[in-house]
Amino acid sequence: MSISTALNIDYNIEYRSKNDDAWYLSGIIFENGNRLRVKFKEFPQSYYDEVFSIDDFSNHSDIDEFIGRFRDVSQPIEDNECSKVIQGMTVCAICRGFDGSIRYFDAIVDDVCYKQHTPAKCVCKYSLFWQRGPEKGYITATTLDDIWINTTGAVNPIVTEFAKLVESKLTAVSFQEHGGAGNSSHVKLSEGKERFCYELSDDDRDLGGLKDTGCHHYIILENLEKDLCPILMMQFIHEQTSITGQAYIFPNLSVETYARGVIMVDNISNIKRIYEFINNSNHIITSFSGRPWVIAEETLKTGTFNTNMQNLQPRSKHIYTGRDLMVVRVGTEEYSRAKQLKDLFMEYRNHLNGLARRLDMEEKKNQLSSIAN
Ligand SMILES: [Zn+2]
Repeated sequence: MSISTALNIDYNIEYRSKNDDAWYLSGIIFENGNRLRVKFKEFPQSYYDEVFSIDDFSNHSDIDEFIGRFRDVSQPIEDNECSKVIQGMTVCAICRGFDGSIRYFDAIVDDVCYKQHTPAKCVCKYSLFWQRGPEKGYITATTLDDIWINTTGAVNPIVTEFAKLVESKLTAVSFQEHGGAGNSSHVKLSEGKERFCYELSDDDRDLGGLKDTGCHHYIILENLEKDLCPILMMQFIHEQTSITGQAYIFPNLSVETYARGVIMVDNISNIKRIYEFINNSNHIITSFSGRPWVIAEETLKTGTFNTNMQNLQPRSKHIYTGRDLMVVRVGTEEYSRAKQLKDLFMEYRNHLNGLARRLDMEEKKNQLSSIAN
């Protein structure tokens, strides 16, 4: 007998259906030690349930796709808080069918026309660029009543536990097929309609948790403050994403005005979430002085490290105050300043990259001619 008929289901999660990509208020049940059943509050009959089995997953991107289908329940916005909806923000919005039906899909706020109004009734106008659903790719006009926001970014613990089960199964299979870890590889990212498209190399491992040895996933950051404390960096990342990892700051040349650093975790889903957080076009991470963080390369790197490296960090006088690092949101003056500085840095870096490629070419030419002689 199916457990889907169980009473007292807690409909406390938002789920994006495999059928239409719309978000539904749902409840989840972990059953038989290997299945996750999603029940829809609107359609409680088990006929409509969507079920994930551990055996449905063949690689790590399946897990990310799965995790991306769940989130906390989006919230409506009070009429006197309409300025919270800003250009560039992703919202959950109502899409009305010809038959009067209502479904919720993700959309990006393309434009906002704020108007003067009483706190009781917002009359502002919003343009939405639909990311999913029947209006996908189109821009439509709407009002605050049809816009909901989702700010928590938290992943439900049952979803996380199920994903961990799948991960450990995939890892076991991967180890049986390839033996131990140790190689270095990278995952190429390209931004598209989906926030991530990536290819996992065969050597890629996902061990979960933070371990001293084994496979680590990392991103390299540039344009950090030279005296930024790595512990502060990870405290900040943890506050913003609930992910625990490690960070290192590398010593810089005296001519350089900034430092490079690395953020490292053991789990590829976590490094992708951190990448997404830092690379989110709705905001920029800056130091208190306004210096914007820049991701050095659009690759998620993978390698095996001795994580005791932390012992070699230069001592920092910094004590975390919670104000040293900031998230500056699009539409603010701080954001415009940070964006200008980021663009300037990118111009400088592209120039450097060009020089590096030329140096590489010259070196190879030199090596070839010395072999020929
Ligand atoms: Zn308004």
